[in-house]
Amino acid sequence: MTGKRFDMTGKTVLITGASSGLGEHFARVLAATGASVVVAARRAERLDKLVCELQAQGFQALAVTMDVTDSESIDTGFTAAERQFGSVDVLINNAGIGANVPFLKMTEGNWLSMLETNLDGAWRVAHRAAVAMANTGRGGNIVNIASILGLRVAQGLAHYAVAKAGVLQLTKAMAIELARDNIRVNALAPGYFRTEMNNDYFESENGQDYIRSKVPMRRLGQLEELSGPLLLLASEAGSFITGTIINVDGGHLSNSL
Ligand code: NDP
Repeated sequence: MTGKRFDMTGKTVLITGASSGLGEHFARVLAATGASVVVAARRAERLDKLVCELQAQGFQALAVTMDVTDSESIDTGFTAAERQFGSVDVLINNAGIGANVPFLKMTEGNWLSMLETNLDGAWRVAHRAAVAMANTGRGGNIVNIASILGLRVAQGLAHYAVAKAGVLQLTKAMAIELARDNIRVNALAPGYFRTEMNNDYFESENGQDYIRSKVPMRRLGQLEELSGPLLLLASEAGSFITGTIINVDGGHLSNSL
């Protein structure tokens, strides 16, 4: 009975930033629960490879090329998904970039490009999804992928932290406005997981020292450790949860001052 609430058979999930890292992992996890998955990003060849892998396992999957800085590209991607599967029931709003730039060296270009992808992009995708969900009358579900840096700050990441704080506020603001349309909106705030975004840093001695000294569990997260929290928010198991942030960080946010 309880397991059934995590079953996503019959649902269509669109995942942005699915060409690598967290998004690629989320696509595999959600497909395995029975959902039809639409994988979106700019690198089409990577998405095609993922779709082939999923289809070979008997799952429903579609690749759509999407740049979250471009509303037209977002609309085209959603329209293709709707044509193939009828509607998008669940959005995993995950696309993002990372860059470490000391504040005094930060250019307006650095600042704007971070906000353009990580905050404005998240809004554009969430807005396109929410309007369509409200129009179907069946509601829907949005999971924004924020970061523990939306709740704390770190050196060289002022632009990233501000963008992710914005994503958390967006999550709560959307949750209260959209509850009557039966649309749930929540966020995951991951700590550190090794992906293309940070691989070089975590390969380095500095990166490894950082994790040992700052994370109470003294290690990086494994992608699989995001699967349960993601499914709780994305499936009917979380049907009374909205406006919530789930931190998945090995205790990083609670570390001693
Ligand atoms: P990756 O670099 O592995 O993946 C980022 C994804 O975002 C890629 O699929 C990339 O696809 C996509 N993307 C970037 N820019 C755009 C764009 N303009 N339009 C569409 N897609 C875009 O990093 P992660 O998997 O680590 O990051 C995924 C999310 O998780 C991000 O929002 C990140 O901030 C967040 N996060 C990650 C943490 C970590 O430790 N790894 C910790 C906390 C949060 P493509 O280049 O093909 O377009």
